[in-house]
Amino acid sequence: MRLGRAPWLAMILAVFGAFSARAAVPPTVVATIAQIGQPLGVIAGDCARVESLLGEGVDPHLYQPTRADMKRLLAADLVLANGHNLEAGLHRALAALAERGKVLYIAETIGQERLLPWSDHHSDPHVWMDPTLWRDALTVGVARVAALVPACAQAMTARAMAFFAEMDALDAYAKAAIASIPADTRMLVTAHDAFAYFGRRYGIELQGVQGISTESEAGLARIEEMVRLLVDRKVPAVFVETSVSDRLVRALIEGAGAAGHTVRIGGTLYSDAMGAPGSYRGTIIGMLDHNTTSIARALGGQATGFSPQLAKD
Ligand SMILES: [Zn+2]
Repeated sequence: MRLGRAPWLAMILAVFGAFSARAAVPPTVVATIAQIGQPLGVIAGDCARVESLLGEGVDPHLYQPTRADMKRLLAADLVLANGHNLEAGLHRALAALAERGKVLYIAETIGQERLLPWSDHHSDPHVWMDPTLWRDALTVGVARVAALVPACAQAMTARAMAFFAEMDALDAYAKAAIASIPADTRMLVTAHDAFAYFGRRYGIELQGVQGISTESEAGLARIEEMVRLLVDRKVPAVFVETSVSDRLVRALIEGAGAAGHTVRIGGTLYSDAMGAPGSYRGTIIGMLDHNTTSIARALGGQATGFSPQLAKD
């Protein structure tokens, strides 16, 4: 009997072995923006291969997928997107994959009552600008990835808790840094409307020049109005962004200068794209630290930087 069972046992072990070998290949998760892919990559560790489709300085509102992107999306076990029409050019590709249940729009898991208005059909998509909202959106993403590799669920939960504790600490830092700006100059002037969640969370007034056409009278009137605001409130700085043209922001600086008030560029902010992969500013914590610290310092507040890494790279 014993001898007779051995081949069966060998077969079962062989089948099991093949099964475990397959199960040991980590699933591939493709994130659209790095604001999703970077934190998910840290939290997944070696439990999943997490890639980001859009790189440094890329505008997700305008991005059109290449043939290589389509291949990566099709081959992915799971696609994590932002949603709320941020990835407008990827919409068709994502919709097709969503029908197969392979797409999770993480920003759309946040309750409507916590979101800000944007257009007639969509909420403001720039949810990552408020780390408390982004933590909740990422949590849903983490759960979906963990479901692909149940053996990793515990390890991923532990890494997620550590990551989110750091995001909470960053949130407390940002609150204090922005609050240190004198009330009069606590005004953030940027090239496009990406900072509404940031403004709401930390209590800084926003003025964006996006969509203003200097060809129209209404556009010119709006530029003049913003120049007056800068001059009257003695706001010392305005900001440019890595993924957006700075043409209109420079028009404001010229206008204020003509009225006798010097305004400088307070820094280049990361709005829709993060810094270079592998650098501190290429992480969600580093991006928000850079933005907060640049804004607070340029507008007369006090900010030491959330992490010493900010001064290094
Ligand atoms: Zn945007």
